[in-house]
Amino acid sequence: MNQIKYKKIVVKVGTNVITKDNGLLDIPMMKKIIIQLVKLKKLGVEVILVSSGAMGAGKSVVKLDKKTDEVGRRQVLASVGQVELMNVYKRILSKHKFISAQILSTKEDFRDRNHYMNMRNCFSSLSKDNIIPIVNENDVVSITELMFTDNDELAGLISAMMNVDALFLLTNVDGVYDGNPEDKTSRIIHTIEPSAPRRQFATPQISKFGRGGMMTKSKIARKLSNLGIITHIVNGKKNGVILDLFAGDEIGTTFLSIKKISNVKKRLAHAYGQEKGTAYLNELATNIFSNPDRPLSLLPVGVTKITGKFEKGDIIKIIGSRQEEIGLGIAQYGFDTAHSLIGQKGHRALIHYDYLFLNL
Ligand code: GLU
Repeated sequence: MNQIKYKKIVVKVGTNVITKDNGLLDIPMMKKIIIQLVKLKKLGVEVILVSSGAMGAGKSVVKLDKKTDEVGRRQVLASVGQVELMNVYKRILSKHKFISAQILSTKEDFRDRNHYMNMRNCFSSLSKDNIIPIVNENDVVSITELMFTDNDELAGLISAMMNVDALFLLTNVDGVYDGNPEDKTSRIIHTIEPSAPRRQFATPQISKFGRGGMMTKSKIARKLSNLGIITHIVNGKKNGVILDLFAGDEIGTTFLSIKKISNVKKRLAHAYGQEKGTAYLNELATNIFSNPDRPLSLLPVGVTKITGKFEKGDIIKIIGSRQEEIGLGIAQYGFDTAHSLIGQKGHRALIHYDYLFLNL
C-alpha cells in the first residue's frame, strides 16, 4: 500500500459476521478482522471498532428462565455476553501486543454537549498506537428511548463525531442490491453518489441475531455522505476485505461523499430525538427553509410558537407550517427570551446559520 487511502476509520462488525450459525462466537473470523485492523494501525491509520455480538455471545453462555421478560433477557444476555466478547478481543489483540479498550455507550452520550465532549475526548485519548477502542451499545442500561436503532446508528454517530474519513459496515451480505438479494437477477450496486435519488436500495431484511438491517445501513450511509464521510458496506466474512478496500478494490457498496462540512452540523445531523424544544415556523419561513438558496439563520419573526423549556446551547427542532420536520439547530437563547420575541422583527437569530442543520 503506497498511499494510505484513509487516515481515520470506524469499522462496525455485525453479530452475523462474528457469530456462527449456532450463535457461538466465531473466533477465527474475529481474528481475521482484528489482524486487518492491527495492520492498518501499524500503517498509522486511526481505527475504532464498533462490535455487536454481546447478546449473541450471551446466548451461548447462559440459559434463561422462560419467565424472564424481554428487558431482563436483554440485560442478562448483554452483560454476560459483553464480558465474553471482550475477552476474545483482548486475547486476540494481546497476541499482537495491542491493548483493547472497551467503550459502552447509550444514546444519552450523544445528547448533551458535556456527554458528547466526554465521548469525543475519550476516543481522542484512546487513539494511541497500540490501542484499539472497541465500542458497543450499553445494552444493559440502554432500554427503549435510550436505545440506538442498532449498532449501525452508533457507528454512524461515532463516525460523525470523530470526523472520520470512512465507515466500514461489515455485514454478512455482499452489499446493497438493486433488487431482492435472493433474486438471481439482482446485482450489487457498487457506487452510490450522494445525489442519487432516495429510492429503496435494500430489502427490509434484518439479520438473524443482531438488530440491524440494510435499510438502516443505507440510511446512515446517506447521512454520512452528506457529512463528507464515505461508507463501505461489505461482506465482513470475506478474507481481507478491509485491506482490499484500502488497496482500492471495488468490493461491496460504496456510498460516496460530498465535500466536508462543519463539526457542529455533523453533530446536528445525528441529533434527532435529542432536542429539548421545538420552534414552529410560519408559512413564509417554512417555504424559505424548505428551499434554501443561501445560508439561512432562524429569526424570531418567522416563528409562530415554541415549546420545551430549552436553554441557550440546547438543541431545538424546527417544524414547518405543514408539521414537517425542517431541521435542527442550537438555540442562541433560552425559551423565556425566545418566547418574548416570537413573531417580532429586528432581533438576533434564535438559531444562527452555523448552528443549523436542515434535513437532508
Ligand atoms: N449491542 C447488540 C449486541 O452486542 C447488537 C445490536 C445490533 O445488532 O446492532 O448484541
